[in-house]
Amino acid sequence: MTDTTWHDRARNLNIDGRAFIDGQRTWSRSGQQFDNLSPIDGRNLGPVARCGADDVELAVANARAAFEDGRWANLAPAKRKRVLVKFADLMQRHRDELALLETLDMGKPIKYSLSVDLGGAANCIRWYGEAIDKVYGEIAPAPSDSLALITREPVGVVAAIVPWNYPMLMASWKIAPALAAGNSVVLKPSEKSPLTALRLAELALEAGIPPGVFNVLPGFGNEAGSALALHMDVDCIAFTGSTRVGKQILQMAGQSNLKRAWTELGGKSANIVCADCPDLDAAVAASIGSIFFNQGESCNAPSRLFVEESIRERFIEKALALVPDFTPGDPLDENTVMGAIVDDIQLGTIMKYIGEGKAAGARLLAGGERMRLESGGYYVAPTIFDNVHADMSIAREEIFGPVLSVLGFTSLDDAVKQANATQYGLHAAVWTSDLSKAIRTSRALRAGTVHVNQYDNDDITVPFGGYKQSGNGRDKSLHAFDKYTELKTTWIQV
Ligand code: NAD
Repeated sequence: MTDTTWHDRARNLNIDGRAFIDGQRTWSRSGQQFDNLSPIDGRNLGPVARCGADDVELAVANARAAFEDGRWANLAPAKRKRVLVKFADLMQRHRDELALLETLDMGKPIKYSLSVDLGGAANCIRWYGEAIDKVYGEIAPAPSDSLALITREPVGVVAAIVPWNYPMLMASWKIAPALAAGNSVVLKPSEKSPLTALRLAELALEAGIPPGVFNVLPGFGNEAGSALALHMDVDCIAFTGSTRVGKQILQMAGQSNLKRAWTELGGKSANIVCADCPDLDAAVAASIGSIFFNQGESCNAPSRLFVEESIRERFIEKALALVPDFTPGDPLDENTVMGAIVDDIQLGTIMKYIGEGKAAGARLLAGGERMRLESGGYYVAPTIFDNVHADMSIAREEIFGPVLSVLGFTSLDDAVKQANATQYGLHAAVWTSDLSKAIRTSRALRAGTVHVNQYDNDDITVPFGGYKQSGNGRDKSLHAFDKYTELKTTWIQV
């Protein structure tokens, strides 16, 4: 498909910003709406329902009723599986539409919306669907005059709140295991990218998920979001977003009904490249590709690069040669690899950090400026700072943009110490040919995922989550079922 075709399709796309409650599209109870501007060119994509506490009441009541009537929760796992697999098939059937909505809404390149976002989200729905009829209970080694059965039951009504950087993928990481386990779900997408979640709800209904089981409320965090977190009849809240809001979510869960609260939060991941790394070109390509992927708006982006001094110059030379490949371009052009920043607020945040880096004396090697495309919209040149010191804000704080901070090291122990000197603990990496050094470093790094001699591997089969203030839960893999199920023990006298 040519880029003209994607633009034509975008013009003809039907965009519906209404909420989805009890199997139906609806405006908010208050009638309030908000404008949804595309980061690509600032075009207004149309009104979106601005849901508030009244809508939360309605959606949670419907989710509760649907849970209690057992239409979904009590369905045999093999039947839930068939519905979820059909849901994934429908997503694939509507792949162009979903990917286009994602790109228009969030600004990422269409080729990644198709492969990473749509492909990953559909795969996630399918994987949990196919898993659910293979999860067994347990029998405890209890005294011989009794039998103690340990089974898993759905928690009930799950509220999921997700960010804007991977709208479909983050939504699917929550809804797939929650629905597969038999829960009802109320999903609040980010106000910056609500469109694909709403379309997913329609496809879920078409696949056979009963009305009320899966509801989507677009709206703002301090309105619909906090009403969900505070609701007395929500059993579990699954949150992905910033560490700042994650702390508020835990507080709201605690001050309301002590609902189970799972948080997947920010990161400032360290990428340590030793002089004995097995393939310098591969290390450079993965480091640069991963920090600039998704315009740097990834929680696990390797934004702090520690390079051993003896290879620092060579590394930087090779890295700079790759930077032009990431020049931002039209997200609807299939050749574009770097798209638009999600909105003017995020653009402002990124530019603020770039300004602070310059002012603090870091050496700007590439980028450092906003790029203006003819179409308008929000674009930032891929940016690399060298001579970054640990106390600079660009080395400490999550920027969530295409900005790489390079720090050198001579002692690996010091590099690990610095890598750990952050409130975050999401991802980390070490590049070395020495196996025991790799294992020792991996053990010392306080992060939920450590990569050795690669950075970009990912798979639905592995848990994703952080240590420290990067969160308290794990998405993906069979471990995600722990979030959405209660363990029940049944003692039977024999
Ligand atoms: P955010 O915390 O501002 O918002 C996330 C979601 O929470 C949005 O839907 C928002 O509307 C809602 N929200 C905001 N305030 C709220 C409140 N008071 N009560 C309830 N809900 C509220 O984050 P963001 O800017 O959308 O996303 C970027 C952040 O997400 C980054 O920090 C990034 O690292 C993190 N993230 C983490 C992961 C992970 O798996 N660890 C994945 C993706 C993004």
